[in-house]
Amino acid sequence: MKLKGKKALVTGASRGIGRAIALAFAREGATVVLGSRSLASLEALGKEIGTAVPVRLDVADPESIARAREEIGEVQILVNNAGIAGSVKVLAMDDAHWQSHLDVNLTGAFRVTRAFLAPMVAAKWGRVIQIASTAGKIGFAYTAAYCASKHGLIGFTRALALEVATSGVTVNAICPGFVRTEMASEAARNIAAKTGKSDAEATRWLEALSPQNRLMEPEEVAAVAVLLASDEARGINGQAINIDGGAVVY
Ligand code: NAP
Repeated sequence: MKLKGKKALVTGASRGIGRAIALAFAREGATVVLGSRSLASLEALGKEIGTAVPVRLDVADPESIARAREEIGEVQILVNNAGIAGSVKVLAMDDAHWQSHLDVNLTGAFRVTRAFLAPMVAAKWGRVIQIASTAGKIGFAYTAAYCASKHGLIGFTRALALEVATSGVTVNAICPGFVRTEMASEAARNIAAKTGKSDAEATRWLEALSPQNRLMEPEEVAAVAVLLASDEARGINGQAINIDGGAVVY
């Protein structure tokens, strides 16, 4: 029960990695607030967990963040996991594609962090965990907006970690490679559509991006999030930890 007595907000908890983190945090004794746009999915997960609280939250909408902050109150742990990942060549990219990735993946994380940070600093204890990506450390073709947003998120993480370093608050990022969720399935479908490969072949291509020749599992990301959220991780600050089987070795 590493997180007993702690309240945690997980954004993008309705499926995939966010759902796995919410379940893992609840198993460790945290009261989990589930935030995303699909209230019905959050309510179903809330029932499954028992103690979790579903809250409608669109991280791209400042008013939605303000409403959610009112409803939720203070938290000790924040996981900025909500994210989108589209794929398009830069020469075919419209402003809306670019802006939507920055709005959700970068500005969303900034605004949600700003909304919840002050009470953590005042209490001299807090955890901010960003779910970034290996796309925050290296480039992947056809995903410039996604890569830019995740590189930005790691930069934000490193700067904020230093800003709050003496306050008992840590700020870290987790950088997964491809993880077995709807987002990776969508990526495989996209690759299949553009290359004529089958979905299964496209998935094997994604698996081969990792030296372990596999997709990561959402539970592996959740396990690292639990560690970063725990008291034991108080010395880990400003880091961007890869979970990719060794695909990116820095
Ligand atoms: P997913 O299955 O597509 O889930 C994305 C989650 O984000 C959903 O719960 C969705 O909920 C939420 N979301 C999207 N836009 C939102 C918004 N405007 N406001 C609030 N919530 C929003 O993706 P995933 O694979 O679990 O990805 C989770 C995070 O991990 C993302 O940040 C992603 O970039 C990162 N990541 C994923 C992979 C991968 O291969 N899967 C690899 C590296 C990093 P609603 O639709 O209910 O709003």
